[in-house]
Amino acid sequence: MASSMSTEISHFDSDDRVYPVAIAGGGVVGLTLALALAQRGIETIVLEASARPERSPSQGRHFMVSFGCWRIWRSLGLGDLLAAMAEPVWGLSAVCADGTLGVRAEDSQDGSPLGYMISEEGLTLALMRAADQDSLVGFAPIGPVMAVETGPFDISLRVGGHRVRARLAVGCDGLRSVIRQSSGIRFDGWDYPLKSISAVVQIVGGHGGVARQIFTRRGPLAFLPLREGRGNIVWTQPIAAADALMALTDDDFIDEAASRLGAILKGARLSTGRQSFPLGSHVADRFHGDRVALAGDSAHQIHPLAGQGLNLGLKDVAALVDVICDAQRLGLDIGSSAVVSGYTRWRRSDAVATAAVMEGFSQIFSGPPALRALAGGAMDLMGSSPAIRSWLMREAGADTGDLPTLMQA
Ligand SMILES: Cc1cc2nc3c(=O)[nH]c(=O)nc-3n(C[C@H](O)[C@H](O)[C@H](O)COP(=O)(O)OP(=O)(O)OC[C@H]3O[C@@H](n4cnc5c(N)ncnc54)[C@H](O)[C@@H]3O)c2cc1C
Repeated sequence: MASSMSTEISHFDSDDRVYPVAIAGGGVVGLTLALALAQRGIETIVLEASARPERSPSQGRHFMVSFGCWRIWRSLGLGDLLAAMAEPVWGLSAVCADGTLGVRAEDSQDGSPLGYMISEEGLTLALMRAADQDSLVGFAPIGPVMAVETGPFDISLRVGGHRVRARLAVGCDGLRSVIRQSSGIRFDGWDYPLKSISAVVQIVGGHGGVARQIFTRRGPLAFLPLREGRGNIVWTQPIAAADALMALTDDDFIDEAASRLGAILKGARLSTGRQSFPLGSHVADRFHGDRVALAGDSAHQIHPLAGQGLNLGLKDVAALVDVICDAQRLGLDIGSSAVVSGYTRWRRSDAVATAAVMEGFSQIFSGPPALRALAGGAMDLMGSSPAIRSWLMREAGADTGDLPTLMQA
């Protein structure tokens, strides 16, 4: 696919061609948006910076995707294909290392899982294949979008010596989004003095589809269930401590993790290398600009302790699809600020609230014992009410509020 598209450059950057939507960034968010718009008859071109190296789908980062966001791929007809690559998550358990606070969640609404764990690499490849088979999606891994130029009727994206024109450009180009920066949109927030280490382990016993997380004063350590008796360890620590963990031998790293996570890691061995990620909390001051919209990490970055970053990005996609399709149906200009500002109003408050909740959890779980005990009491109280429990589960599963069409049950 990569080679065929890149040899057809003149096809998409000819001067008279104006796409309805050009998407900068062919990650999970950008590809999902392209497929969803194509399903509604709207043609897109996806401009991707890197030609992807073929890696084993079991390697690299894995995501927990909530049942509400999973519905998006189900609506696109990809549910079965992706579920076959994913591990359903049936329960969650989060405890403080000193036992002051614990949260358990085991029940979903309708006997379906709370979410799925899926590999970023496998997911991206599956979405790329689906895009390749869709005549309304052009995928062009020809290098980074370097600048944008906005005119009265369209926007031009410059990639190397090429210029691609569209009515609307969507920045799905991640944390350092060129689309966001070229549009003068602020990305307010802070960097944490923390890093997360991610690695895949092969365990000896079963994991029962339960995601486990243990909070220490220095940061959370999670074991997330994967297919074939494997698990994804995500371990957040202060930068120096994380660097020291990265420098350990595989066996010593597993021993360190096992001394905190316990029996689940007895006899486990690493099945991939370790990757470390710097962390931050940032939200764009608006999710739109002149003929521009932002979705995914280009619009927000949050602490990964509850695995909500991609989920937020998928919710952006579903909302933006409704905004674009409604405008198109009414004969409006889909790149006009009247249209895209509605998208900011719909999505930004959710991102701000989620970032604040993640920061609150992080403070509580790493805070003094008295604060954790207080929070524990409040959680016990809420957990004793079936109605509140059910609402909390739906909230965590992205199944509350003003749900876009793609996320409706
Ligand atoms: C350790 C860790 C664990 C996480 N776990 C979870 C989890 O369990 N669940 C969850 O929901 N979230 C999780 N997240 C968050 C999640 O990783 C991100 O929210 C998600 O990857 C964002 O996807 P995206 O497509 O917006 O951006 P990206 O994945 O960053 O994709 C951006 C794409 O744009 C391309 N690009 C960049 N610049 C340009 C350019 N100028 N022109 C063209 N293309 C460009 C890149 O090559 C890339 O393909 C985790 C994060 C971390 C750090």
